[in-house]
Amino acid sequence: MSPIFPDAQLPSGQPATLGVMGGGQLGRMFVHAAQRLGYVTAVLDPDPQSPAGLVSHHHIQTGYSDAHGLAQLSALCDAVTTEFENVPADALATLATQRPVAPGSAAVGIAQDRIQEKAHFEACANVSGVRCAPHAVIETAEQLKAVSPDLLPGILKTARMGYDGKGQVRVKDLAELAVAWAAFKGTPCVLEKLLPLKAECSVIVARGWEGAVVSFAPQRNVHRDGILAVTHAYESNLPVALSERARTATKSIANHIGYVGVLCVEFFVIDDGSEHGGLVVNEMAPRPHNSGHHTMDACDVSQFDLQVHAMAGLPLPQPRQHSPAIMLNLLGDIWFDSAGQDRAPNWQSVLALPGTHLHLYGKRHARPGRKMGHLNITGADIAGVKATARKAASILGLPGLEDI
Ligand code: ATP
Ligand code: MG
Repeated sequence: MSPIFPDAQLPSGQPATLGVMGGGQLGRMFVHAAQRLGYVTAVLDPDPQSPAGLVSHHHIQTGYSDAHGLAQLSALCDAVTTEFENVPADALATLATQRPVAPGSAAVGIAQDRIQEKAHFEACANVSGVRCAPHAVIETAEQLKAVSPDLLPGILKTARMGYDGKGQVRVKDLAELAVAWAAFKGTPCVLEKLLPLKAECSVIVARGWEGAVVSFAPQRNVHRDGILAVTHAYESNLPVALSERARTATKSIANHIGYVGVLCVEFFVIDDGSEHGGLVVNEMAPRPHNSGHHTMDACDVSQFDLQVHAMAGLPLPQPRQHSPAIMLNLLGDIWFDSAGQDRAPNWQSVLALPGTHLHLYGKRHARPGRKMGHLNITGADIAGVKATARKAASILGLPGLEDI
């Protein structure tokens, strides 16, 4: 694909425009990165108050499958990307008949469906060197009956539309499994064996139209109630050999499907009796990821910069991390006191701490569990970053100080 330069004067006389399907916080940070390079941006999201729509030059307020909205987006844009995986894959395929779309509908379609996603991971296991958790697909009553007790206790996950731990339930025996599947109304699911996790990590790569791949170093992630809480991004966050394996595996997972764009792959580090533990691939996100937000302040290019570069056919420089970093997710919970009354987080004290970078997404209403923003902490050394992160977490009343 020939590069779409931000300063190019197209025949229409309009500056180059990049579009994004979805108007959440990831779209907002994409819009900011694109605008910094001089692009005009367009967001398609039905919500008039969507975080990305509020800051974009154009905001098309229709559903993701709306033919008129999609036609408007392709008329406005020189290339289109997506910011969440549940955008209908068909809508991306429609856009791709008119404009370059990265990632493509096939890759997004795989990431949308845990059954296809696991089949993809298994298909490239020989090259990637990692397998997924032992699992069974449950789409029919016969498959439910045939489940091996070896998979229990396990986690039943809906094949589609799960995120932040939603659409998942832990089951300890076959009876609980049957109840859980019925509660999901018999929708296609995957039952995964519950693994003894030592840690979780993820890797973000960017792959270009011609197949060039660059990657960020793996980060270690701490989840609370199924939602990412803390990301540790510095040397020594994970054993080196494990880090290298995760990075290589992610590249081959992207290469296997000719992926174009930014891809995040999440891994479990499991206790398998070995010194550093075994690596198991969990899932992939066809877009920048919450666990890569530290790249905005700790690296010379961020995951959102690379998303812009990849879709527009610009060069993909290998990112360099210049500071150790910790990312603290800011969920809506901290806007409420212990009695459930509204309160304002103490930004004054947090921003007085050196090396803190506050990112808020412009969401009007806080709700428990809702991602409202994140706080990146950078510094000269890891001990200093951890100390500042602990102070910030304590000021904000974030739970789990022991995780930092
Ligand atoms: P995301 O917001 O990352 O898309 P999700 O809702 O799709 O999350 P998963 O990543 O599958 O869900 O699971 C959420 C968390 O639940 C994991 O990060 C991990 O902490 C825990 N978990 C999931 N599967 C397993 C498993 N097989 N064994 C042990 N823990 C698990
Ligand atoms: Mg996950």
